[in-house]
Amino acid sequence: MPNPSRYAPTASRVLGVAAAGVLVVSVLSIVPALERAQHAQSVPATTTIALALPPAPVNATAPTEDWRTVQVRSGQTLGSLFADLGLPASAMHRVLQVPEVGQLAARLRIGSELAFDIAPDGSLRGLRFDTDETRRIELAVTEAGIERQIIERPLETRTVVASGEIRSSLFADGARAGLSAPVMNSMVQALQFDIDFAQDLRAGDHFQLVYEELWREGERLRDGGVVAVRFTNQGRTFTALRFERNGNREFFDLDGRPLRKNFLRTPIEFARVTSGFGSRRHPVLNRIRMHRGVDYAAPIGTPIFAAGDGRVTFAGWQSGFGRTVILDHGNGITTLYAHMSRLGAYRVGQRVRQGTTIGYVGMSGLATGPHLHYEFRVRGVHKDPLRVTLPKPEPLKGPLLAEFRRATAPALAQLERIGDVQLAER
Ligand SMILES: [Zn+2]
Repeated sequence: MPNPSRYAPTASRVLGVAAAGVLVVSVLSIVPALERAQHAQSVPATTTIALALPPAPVNATAPTEDWRTVQVRSGQTLGSLFADLGLPASAMHRVLQVPEVGQLAARLRIGSELAFDIAPDGSLRGLRFDTDETRRIELAVTEAGIERQIIERPLETRTVVASGEIRSSLFADGARAGLSAPVMNSMVQALQFDIDFAQDLRAGDHFQLVYEELWREGERLRDGGVVAVRFTNQGRTFTALRFERNGNREFFDLDGRPLRKNFLRTPIEFARVTSGFGSRRHPVLNRIRMHRGVDYAAPIGTPIFAAGDGRVTFAGWQSGFGRTVILDHGNGITTLYAHMSRLGAYRVGQRVRQGTTIGYVGMSGLATGPHLHYEFRVRGVHKDPLRVTLPKPEPLKGPLLAEFRRATAPALAQLERIGDVQLAER
């Protein structure tokens, strides 16, 4: 977990980048409001179908609509919403015949909006609501029956660029400068195998970033993920380019080598190494013996991750180790996770992917406090998991590499352009 008070990207400079293929150019600005204002200017005006503002009646003979928008509050049901508007229960039972209304009633979310078209005589003429981010249902209720209209509201992805310099803390000041937490997390995820964002950042580190924004009907909904990032950490520059392989989005370096390593350096969340590899006095047995793994102190219940893809070869109790899981990763490599409070949902023989939760931190077996005891063995020989050097994953080859180059060229060009402007301004 990065220390929020130490290093921060501050808005180093405002860039006048007008790159081809960039729909919206945004820069980390000292005044986030200015950045948002720039967004607004560069967006063509489009009509938004807001629940509260229905489109005008299509013909003169259509009765005037009277839509009322209500926001669901805690404890409300579809029945109480109808009652509050003076609508009879029979009206609700009629619209409940529409499957989407049934689904809506079954899981009515606090804060979601429904719009009711109510006739002067108090009867229900229409109902409008969103089933999800991209789909809106509109019902026209008449004597004859209920007409259902589905309005598709497709999401649009736009590419945005940003850059910044680390002055104190990545997350705290990144947020202040206008980068959302999801974008920061996406950047950390892309580079987590090369940079330890909790310990490695220094003032003067800097980055360029290409990420996505999701828009709908001319309205910015939220940020998407990072497409490309270049991060200079203590003088070393790392580049991560997103590319989809076999339906999975992964990050690769400039040569098309996956950034994801075969093993996580730290198979636990929010960990703190309390006992390193090597000789020490055993805290319970109180005598010197080789400590064959790494201990990570963490609260009971903290998820423990599979360090790499593998197969479960043991999941149960071992004397001294308590609740233990052992994974076989092939090539003679096994990992062991001990003192769990609870085992994960995986049984012996099952395959697990890297990062899967295989258990939870505890103090079962011989342990003085809650911690994960983690071992890494190569052909039965214990290795220091923090130091062991592992073969790099294979780079993309042949047609896949060509496809990677083609697919990532635009984002790479965007990164280069931000970098050029920064250099020119130095
Ligand atoms: Zn240990």
